[in-house]
Amino acid sequence: MKRQLILIADMEGTSGIFENNVEAIYHGSELWRNIGRQYLTSDVLAVCEAAKEYEIDEILLYDGHYAGDAEFNVILEQLPGNVKVFDTPNRCFYWRRIRGQAESNPFGLITVGQHARNGELDAYFPHTIQTPPIKTLFVNEMHIAEIGQATLSFCGTKYIANIGCNASHKEAREISKNVTCITVKNKATGWEPLPQETYGIIKNGVIEAIKAIDQKDMISISEPCYFSMELTEDYYFDPTEMFPWKGNFTETMATWESPNIEIGLELFNYVRGFIKKKSK
Ligand SMILES: [Zn+2]
Repeated sequence: MKRQLILIADMEGTSGIFENNVEAIYHGSELWRNIGRQYLTSDVLAVCEAAKEYEIDEILLYDGHYAGDAEFNVILEQLPGNVKVFDTPNRCFYWRRIRGQAESNPFGLITVGQHARNGELDAYFPHTIQTPPIKTLFVNEMHIAEIGQATLSFCGTKYIANIGCNASHKEAREISKNVTCITVKNKATGWEPLPQETYGIIKNGVIEAIKAIDQKDMISISEPCYFSMELTEDYYFDPTEMFPWKGNFTETMATWESPNIEIGLELFNYVRGFIKKKSK
């Protein structure tokens, strides 16, 4: 059986990107092109390097930052030959399609470049998928943002490590309490190292995490799934009178129920389609 590692990348939690050079996460900007892409690629390469110590046949990468635009954040030409990318139109997060392209039983999953959810303290660029308009997204009473959506799409796979902003680990641990958490920046302590410094930290952290794979848990969630999404102040839901799923709307809150996580996350996109901005 092919040993396949799933690697899910975002960018707000990348090494070396802080408030003073935030433009580096703005997809398409000059700083993104000159610095941001290289920094994220460095974090991803550190994971690839660690994977080399083990017999990983393939790393399947999803580059989800600024999904909806075809241009990758990670500089693919710099990656080793065993890295392949998920194929979705304009890198959109079609989680069922993403899950379907991976092995039935991947070796494990790692998240990198990760940021905290909206509302977390001492966090670099915290948000939940897109804030505003999304204030919170809950499934079975757990606040999930990008980490939650990505990992829960891989139920049955071991969650090996989360790499990113120190405040992002809270969500990762709620998904899987034994996940290895590797910090590349910490707003609470003001620790803001460059990628050259975090490269070794990530590499060694991932080596240790994979070594301890027997202690890692399979990602799981109970079913059915109960979702709720709340909006920030300037937004409201404007649903059609009839909609073809089990759910309800108030002005700022949507709830829906699904038999499993995949279907619930797919419905999230339809629920999201009813969000409108208040006119002032
Ligand atoms: Zn992002």
